[in-house]
Amino acid sequence: MTALPGRLVLLGHPVAHSASPRFQNAALKAAGIPLTYETLDVLPERLDDTLRELAAQNAAGNVTIPHKESLYARCVSRTAVAERAGAVNVFWHVDGSLHGDNSDVAGVEVMSKALLQGNCAGARVALLGAGGAAAAVLCAVERWQGARATLYNRHMPRAEQLAARFAPLVTPVSSLAEALEGATLVVNATPIGMRDNAFPVPIDALPSGAAVFDLVYRPEETAWVRAARETGHRAADGEGMLLEQGARAFERWFGREPDRGAMWRAMH
Ligand code: NAP
Repeated sequence: MTALPGRLVLLGHPVAHSASPRFQNAALKAAGIPLTYETLDVLPERLDDTLRELAAQNAAGNVTIPHKESLYARCVSRTAVAERAGAVNVFWHVDGSLHGDNSDVAGVEVMSKALLQGNCAGARVALLGAGGAAAAVLCAVERWQGARATLYNRHMPRAEQLAARFAPLVTPVSSLAEALEGATLVVNATPIGMRDNAFPVPIDALPSGAAVFDLVYRPEETAWVRAARETGHRAADGEGMLLEQGARAFERWFGREPDRGAMWRAMH
């Protein structure tokens, strides 16, 4: 992007709970950019009207549940990674036209690399969930040489559909036990543990030495991540991914890197 956007928003429903304004506003302040990142709670039936207003304002921003796929469909152009993921979580306008990117994939990539200590090649990934976040995980995994994934979802048809988009990388399986066999990285891409201390996978079912990546984030980490770490697993929740997808979005809007330290401090 060249010109400064007229407005910077997070589109979603609900969005009030989002941590994004905290760290994006810290990044804007650190960069001396005179904009405020605001949440915009938009019901699906109001999305098209809202997009017309945002186009007139030359707005840019992020998109979250439930609008990621809808924004994807409305963009006149999308980056290759957004096309592959089938979802847009970053948008901007050029001459009134909507453009989209997916920075969740970069967030997954950075966190997985840290958890696997830089060695993603040959990883065996057990992935739980088959929604947009799971697709972002698979976009990252397919870049790793020799990596494979098993995919478990409570509704098998959705797992089969997503796996088919990433064949032959992914095998859909009908039980958690099958998914976990030989896994070196176990990824939760469901909302389990978001509102309570439920575990997506019992700790004693985790393969020995497997790293644990929970896309869910909570103020004091998720109970699952804490418990996994206590039993010797390398583990991270979704906060690092959230910050990294936000940093990549900032780069897309402003053509420069944000102050990641300022973003991190705003969260702690
Ligand atoms: P989504 O498209 O709605 O998909 C949710 C997936 O979770 C579906 O496969 C769904 O299964 C499964 N699921 C939902 N409730 C479940 C339950 N109670 N038990 C078992 N499976 C359940 O959502 P999404 O966008 O992929 O997001 C998934 C999670 O990732 C969310 O918690 C979100 O907060 C997190 N996320 C984090 C970041 C980050 O930056 N850290 C980014 C994106 C997403 P069915 O298909 O059977 O319904």
